[in-house]
Amino acid sequence: MQAIHIRGLNKFYGRKQVLFDIALDFPQAQMVALIGPSGSGKSTLLRHINGLNVAASGEIHINGEPLFQQGRLNRQVRAQRSKIGYIFQQFNLVNRLSVLDNVLIGALGRIPKWRAYLRHFTQEEKQQAFDCLARVGLSEFVHQRASQLSGGQQQRVAIAKILMQQADIILADEPIASLDPESAKSVMNTLQSIHQQDGKTVIVTLHQVDYARRYCPRTVALKQGVVQFDGATSTLSDGFLNQLYGSELRPED
Ligand code: ADP
Ligand code: MG
Repeated sequence: MQAIHIRGLNKFYGRKQVLFDIALDFPQAQMVALIGPSGSGKSTLLRHINGLNVAASGEIHINGEPLFQQGRLNRQVRAQRSKIGYIFQQFNLVNRLSVLDNVLIGALGRIPKWRAYLRHFTQEEKQQAFDCLARVGLSEFVHQRASQLSGGQQQRVAIAKILMQQADIILADEPIASLDPESAKSVMNTLQSIHQQDGKTVIVTLHQVDYARRYCPRTVALKQGVVQFDGATSTLSDGFLNQLYGSELRPED
């Protein structure tokens, strides 16, 4: 069974079509790069896989269950959706909360309105959050405010949240786009290590093809909403990449 199975996916914004007949399969435990010039539909595709967008036509199955039917999210798939973790370029942490509390609310899948809510976590849940933070190498920062950490560290807190959520699919949308090379490497290494140790499926949109080459055996390339390439990253040629990015300045590798 595929972790993610997509067929005939078409998406329109108004009259503008932004995804064209997408057909992709992602088996469990793959780490896949999603590349393409800006505006090619990468984020839109990830939002569909997460059920944040529902397509006009086509189908997406998560672990064999249809994510939506006739333009509506499938309620039965709610449990499956909680198995999907999403990482954003801008970390999406609650700055005024501690690192530990940020990971704990990851278990809720939403941000509680009142800080008092945090009282309700059990000792066991707190221990779990500690363990998740240890796995991303942040044990010594648990009681600091999220905003006191560097960008790379904040992104690793976001990864710890996903571990806490016990997601088995991770969708990371430009997780390293705003990081310096050292932090970017630490975030990619963390994604890779949880992918390898826990067999998680990871789809990561990347601006620099060099990171795809280093971390992702498979790459999917989109341009103007059409899949242009799906295969071994090692077979991506310079000629293809120049064509893919066209006049857009290709980011430095
Ligand atoms: P990428 O992530 O590859 O940069 P996006 O998925 O963000 O591309 O965007 C794909 C296309 O859809 C772009 O042309 C963009 O302008 C358009 N688009 C994205 N979100 C919206 C929206 N909410 N409303 C209208 N158009 C949108
Ligand atoms: Mg995007």
